[in-house]
Amino acid sequence: MRVLVVEDDSAVAEPLLAGLVRNGIEVEHVMLAAQVLAAAPGVDVVILDLGLPDDDGLSVLRELRRISDVPVIIATARGDETDRIVGLELGADDYVVKPFSVRELAARVRAVARRRRVDTTLESGRIQVDRGRHRALLDGVPVELTAKEFDLLAVLAEEPGRVVPRQELFSRVWDPVWVGTGKTLDVHVASLRRKLGDATVIETVRGVGYRLATGDE
Ligand code: CA
Repeated sequence: MRVLVVEDDSAVAEPLLAGLVRNGIEVEHVMLAAQVLAAAPGVDVVILDLGLPDDDGLSVLRELRRISDVPVIIATARGDETDRIVGLELGADDYVVKPFSVRELAARVRAVARRRRVDTTLESGRIQVDRGRHRALLDGVPVELTAKEFDLLAVLAEEPGRVVPRQELFSRVWDPVWVGTGKTLDVHVASLRRKLGDATVIETVRGVGYRLATGDE
């Protein structure tokens, strides 16, 4: 996951960039409106400040939408309703008002990227996860998975290499207010490993969660 942060105020940018990196997100940073169009291709999400020194963020967004449908989160001190509405009408995916918590923003980044990827095929090494058709392939051969096993694999495959915390897996695959023991998750992971035929594909990070090994490790 790679995010472009468009922010001219270094007092805002520095903790934001550091916080995103801490949350496992790669960052790219520009301070001017004029730099956005060149920097946006190749990133998964753009975080856009509205008050930029050389142009208004809303007109940047308008320009950006002509060439790209990359998810955009507006992050600004301007909380007034008109900006919010115009931003969303111009195609922003989300809107946060400063001051915001970096952790919350990181969660929103993942959420908008997820919404955008809902029907796409994810690939990691020997595994393909086709979310549109709801099927998984290992070395090009379909693997029979239960619905929960498929969902679990799809979450892990969104960002190979990222350790997905157990709580996030519970809440996204089972229930947002999960209260059970952790056993169900471990049983499903064991079953996935068995079906995928290679126990090392899904790595256990003790006390934290699971991650899908990237193909090039
Ligand atoms: Ca600014």
